[in-house]
Amino acid sequence: MNKSYYNASNRAGIRHPVQYNANMRRRVQKPALRRAQTTRRRTHVSVYIARYILLLVIYLALLGVSALGITMLLRVNVGGEPFGLTEAARMASPAVPAPVMGAVDEEEYVQAAISGVTFKLDLSELEEYMNPSDRDAYIKLINQTYKLDKDYKPDDLVSAPFVRSGVQSPYLRLYAAKALEAMLSEAYANGCSTGLTVTSCYRSYDYQQFLYDYRVSVYAYLGEEEAKKKAATIVAIPGQSEHQSGLAVDIHTLSSADEVFENTFEFQWLKENAWKFGFILRYPKDKTHITGIIYEPWHYRYVGRYHAFKIYESGLTLEEYCEQTGLGLE
Ligand SMILES: [Zn+2]
Repeated sequence: MNKSYYNASNRAGIRHPVQYNANMRRRVQKPALRRAQTTRRRTHVSVYIARYILLLVIYLALLGVSALGITMLLRVNVGGEPFGLTEAARMASPAVPAPVMGAVDEEEYVQAAISGVTFKLDLSELEEYMNPSDRDAYIKLINQTYKLDKDYKPDDLVSAPFVRSGVQSPYLRLYAAKALEAMLSEAYANGCSTGLTVTSCYRSYDYQQFLYDYRVSVYAYLGEEEAKKKAATIVAIPGQSEHQSGLAVDIHTLSSADEVFENTFEFQWLKENAWKFGFILRYPKDKTHITGIIYEPWHYRYVGRYHAFKIYESGLTLEEYCEQTGLGLE
């Protein structure tokens, strides 16, 4: 020890004795001794690790054997078959359907949306009219191609709510009338002006003829052919008007229907919420080439909540929707 002590001192260039300490001992050990100690320490650690791994392997093996044993036991008990699930076992644990990657169940999505609608008011008594159980009963397409007979008149017309005084034949079909009652009541409850009222509802074939003839006379200066063409984009030709179906309403806050209605809060509310009551904005902006009718922010058509939601969500016109689904074309 003394030798090491003085060796160390010499190596460090210290010529006088220094106090011994643990730190010094580490420094003074000979390289061979240090190597031996390091090797011993490594061996020591390796043995420990090996022991732990061995214990872990044994533990896992025991766990596996007991799990297998329990499984076998259960299977035998269920149906007497040690391997493979029996019919009874399969029935007892119904398979969870594998998720279909990339595909959304559209029907489920639509059902969740239409059954999740909430209102400020209690409109539960009108729910069946907004969301009819016979959901395809009101989807009929009426336009230049799909016309109504001259004699067609709905047999379930009732008085329409919130109609302005002086409106000719203030009637709608029962479901449309009740759904409209819900829509406008909720609109007022949400801050819409009570000046938001119905200016047109059911129109008979003859009344439509009167309106159309009047519009043609307004454009008479264009010549008969042009006057008729122009008039038809604004007032439907008799037999081609949704108003004859008793399922369409004109609603706005102005003294007469005008495109500027789109700038009102009332229009924005109707545009976003009409589907909840079963109505669609029937003649949207920039869709005249499909509908054949000018943009009419005031004209709403009852189709029932299910189809109204799908039309609203897709941004399709009724023409496109009916052609895609094959509904309402008879
Ligand atoms: Zn209209």
